[in-house]
Amino acid sequence: MTRTETLAGIVSSLSDFDPNALPVAMARQAIERFITPIDSIELVPLRSALDRVLARDVISPINVPAHDNAAMDGWALRFADLDTDGPKAFESIGTALAGKPFTGTVAPNQAVRIMTGAVMPPGCDTVVIQELVATDGQRIIIPARQQQGQHRRLRGEDLCAGTPAVSAGQLLRPAELGLLASLGIAEVPVQRRLKVAFFSTGDELRSLGEPLDPGCVYDSNRYTLMGMLTRLGVELIDLGVVPDSPQALEAAVRDASRAADAIVSSGGVSVGEADFTREIMNRLGEVAFWTIAMRPGRPMAFGRIGRASYFGLPGNPVAVMITFLFFVRDALIRQSGAIPRPVLPVPVRSMTAIQKKPGRTEYQRAIVGIGEDGMLQARLTGSQGSGVLRSMSEANGLMVLRHDQAAIAMGDMVDAILFEGLI
Ligand code: AMP
Ligand code: MG
Repeated sequence: MTRTETLAGIVSSLSDFDPNALPVAMARQAIERFITPIDSIELVPLRSALDRVLARDVISPINVPAHDNAAMDGWALRFADLDTDGPKAFESIGTALAGKPFTGTVAPNQAVRIMTGAVMPPGCDTVVIQELVATDGQRIIIPARQQQGQHRRLRGEDLCAGTPAVSAGQLLRPAELGLLASLGIAEVPVQRRLKVAFFSTGDELRSLGEPLDPGCVYDSNRYTLMGMLTRLGVELIDLGVVPDSPQALEAAVRDASRAADAIVSSGGVSVGEADFTREIMNRLGEVAFWTIAMRPGRPMAFGRIGRASYFGLPGNPVAVMITFLFFVRDALIRQSGAIPRPVLPVPVRSMTAIQKKPGRTEYQRAIVGIGEDGMLQARLTGSQGSGVLRSMSEANGLMVLRHDQAAIAMGDMVDAILFEGLI
């Protein structure tokens, strides 16, 4: 797939695009349009395909199920032989087991004992469950009021041969692995894993194992990023800590753009630091510097360096996680060749009043639980400062206060996003 749109072109086509107060939804839209999915296929055994992105449609080579079969244990018979007004006696002439079909022929008023999954004997169209059937030696008594075709699964009911079973772009989850296995498919074409380079910027940062000099902090962002990127199933390229020097930053970005499909950095995009970052990025590629109308978050750079997409996240540890979650995650899924599933908010009752002005999206770290009334409720995790990583660790989700929303009163319903399965 070739890209024709420039970032500037995309931005200018979005009406009311104000890079100094950019609504979250609009930034997401611009990113989505600018990202080009990779298309680089490898064949992997089905066993290794979990969480990979299917690269081509898989067409079912067979009918699933391959034969009409019983959905319940009972007796298979011809519906036409039943007496609609009262019970009817049948001769039980044999047994059909799953994997062991009944091979004889079934004459009028004969029935075959059948187990779930067994192939329907020739001519039989109906299964009467065993609980309803009385037996006396060779004869069985079938009560009235059966439905034609009951408890029978039809050939091809799940999937017909020749129809698409799983579409390209689908992230392979356990259900897809099972579905593909049910078609007898042992190898699947998937996109290769995206390579993502990441680094932290800041003279004050120390890596683990180094002494913590006065005024310095340990680099935590590379660890949250490592965790979140690993969950996305990408290949990681850890470029370490890059000092606040134009030469070092330029070298890191050049290396990253050669080695990776995407680059994620943290720090160095806030107003005080953006100037030299901006100069370097725009020399090496096409990068926009935005101020997003959100909290935490705000400054963010996005664009492309060489062939790699570039995400310049803010330095604050919580802001890194939130901007990753709402901007980088879907973009990397898309770039991996998959179609991101929307992160679905759930309505929760806020147990706290929250000050807010319309005009920005706010993400409050929250503990979501079930209240006495059985409904979801949420309370905040202490300090909401954008540097307080502990508040992310204590939280199991975020309350999302939408762009246009005003202050929240205690007891109001708000949207929440749960971390489980997400980060
Ligand atoms: P910056 O966006 O570079 O101005 O950084 C904002 C704040 O986040 C500063 O207090 C930094 O010390 C802190 N910070 C930046 N990068 C990291 C990091 N990798 N780990 C922990 N804190 C960081
Ligand atoms: Mg910095």
